[in-house]
Amino acid sequence: MKIALIAHDNKKQDLITFSKAYQPILSNHQLYATGTTGQRIMDSTGLSIHRFKSGPLGGDQQIGALIADNEMDLVIFFRDPLTAQPHEPDIIALLRLCDVYNIPLATNMGTAEVLIHGLKNGAFQWREI
Ligand code: PGA
Repeated sequence: MKIALIAHDNKKQDLITFSKAYQPILSNHQLYATGTTGQRIMDSTGLSIHRFKSGPLGGDQQIGALIADNEMDLVIFFRDPLTAQPHEPDIIALLRLCDVYNIPLATNMGTAEVLIHGLKNGAFQWREI
């Protein structure tokens, strides 16, 4: 499966903690991330991640393009709901494309936990068809 990992600055540590906890599962998949998020996760976990541009510089849109091309299976995007983001339009566009293409999307740790367990237990087999 192709998995996108994105976190706003105040949520990056949460995503690093999550990635460490589920490193054995994540390591079985192709991982993608926005620039800074990807670098920090790689530094902390040793996971191999394809990094796009930083979110505010177009990274969210690059991941959105993969979704539109049916090249992304799961998006884990820990948003910061308490801080305004300069690239809010890009964020909304990414979330919208997940809904357009029915791509599973976690915007917080609780949902990400459910999806990662689903990933481990074969709940994503419909994406392989
Ligand atoms: P970053 O981008 O990983 O480059 O910080 C994430 C974002 O803010 O959308």
